[in-house]
Amino acid sequence: MPRVFIKTYGCQMNERDSEAVAAQLVAKGYTLASSEETADVVLLNTCSVRDLAEQKALNKMKALAVAAGKERRGPVLGFMGCMAQSRGQKLIDELPDVDLVLGTQKFHRAAEYLDEILSGAREKIVDVAEEKDSEATIREHLLNGSAKKSVSAFVSIMQGCNQYCTFCIVPYTRGEERSRTIPGIVAECAELVSRGVKEITLLGQIVTSYGKREIPARDGKSAFVQLLEAVQEIDGLERIRFTSPHPKGYGDDLVDAYARLPKLCESAHLPVQSGSDRILKLMHRGYTRERYLGIVRKLRAARPGMGVTTDFIVGFPSETEKDFEETLSLAREVEFDQAYVFKYSPRRDTPAAEMPEQVPQRVREERNQILLQTINEIAARNYKSYVGRQAQILVEGPSKRNPARMTGRTRCNKIVVFDGGERHRGRLLDVQITRAGSFTLYGDAAILE
Ligand code: SF4
Repeated sequence: MPRVFIKTYGCQMNERDSEAVAAQLVAKGYTLASSEETADVVLLNTCSVRDLAEQKALNKMKALAVAAGKERRGPVLGFMGCMAQSRGQKLIDELPDVDLVLGTQKFHRAAEYLDEILSGAREKIVDVAEEKDSEATIREHLLNGSAKKSVSAFVSIMQGCNQYCTFCIVPYTRGEERSRTIPGIVAECAELVSRGVKEITLLGQIVTSYGKREIPARDGKSAFVQLLEAVQEIDGLERIRFTSPHPKGYGDDLVDAYARLPKLCESAHLPVQSGSDRILKLMHRGYTRERYLGIVRKLRAARPGMGVTTDFIVGFPSETEKDFEETLSLAREVEFDQAYVFKYSPRRDTPAAEMPEQVPQRVREERNQILLQTINEIAARNYKSYVGRQAQILVEGPSKRNPARMTGRTRCNKIVVFDGGERHRGRLLDVQITRAGSFTLYGDAAILE
């Protein structure tokens, strides 16, 4: 049985795609290797969102090829995902040791192609073509891959994005928006719940655009809200989350869903990117600062205690000190629970890469530091305010930093570490928050249960 090792770069969508590929390979008789050194096949699932991510994957593949060259017969080497999609055959031209290049609509073909390469039927395979209905092929899960039960699972509901933000390569690597059916998604969620999953995160590049073309609005509710309602009905499911949404998808029907659907956690990731209307327009984001702030106000009114997180890009072309000040003031006004700050990274073939007045790297670095510091100060105050309060957590398993302790998440998506045991895994517990660290809360084991 060939042993496969998959290394994943990038976002949760990539993690989910890798999991589905691994599960499909296991179903076909492959086993999962614990390291690349012991594998017969090494696949790199790549990310193109920043240049650094691409360089990391390329360097990794070069190192694998050098190591394989020392052996009589090295492992089969493959690229898949976003960089595979955007570079295609060029990857093999530049790195002749690569055997397989698998695009973002072809993950489900991994087993078939690897069989062909391993049997010697074909030497090299590049497949980055579009494939109808490929969005419905990311279905398999590896819940039984570990000895412990998974409490939380990700379910891919759509692929692609039509927003074409001027800085983003995703519409070019993931293609047009394509959505799965509601019954197909619900069946997958129900199957996961029957295997012990308590929390489902619905995944896609722009989930709030789910089903826009395929599923008509009903009673003023978008396809995405109809999907949330259908998932809410699954018995035994405790919590629903989703990522990544787009602010313009937060219509009143979705805000209202937060008030109506008890399983939908009071946690919203609202990627704002900039606080300046001028920059938002250049980015082609489709909302203004005022509209964004209005959504946050409505969400907090619909669900008190709503956790709001975001993404920022600093140093977008032509961003002035004044634009950056507006981003800082927006961060202070919203008081985000957490924010991910990215320095603008020009991506080939995107409109922003060709824009004049590219901001010098030094300025991007400075703004990155200033915004991070602001975010951290706000978050520290926010986290401290939880000390002394009770919170309901869903226990996920041992803490990554200290496996002797357990970890769970509040409904508003804050990590809580506490002294518990395996018996708590998968349970909803009310804990007393005793201490706040950096983006982590600590609960008192003494008052558990
Ligand atoms: S909405 Fe998100 S995925 Fe789509 S183009 Fe914009 S940043 Fe990229």
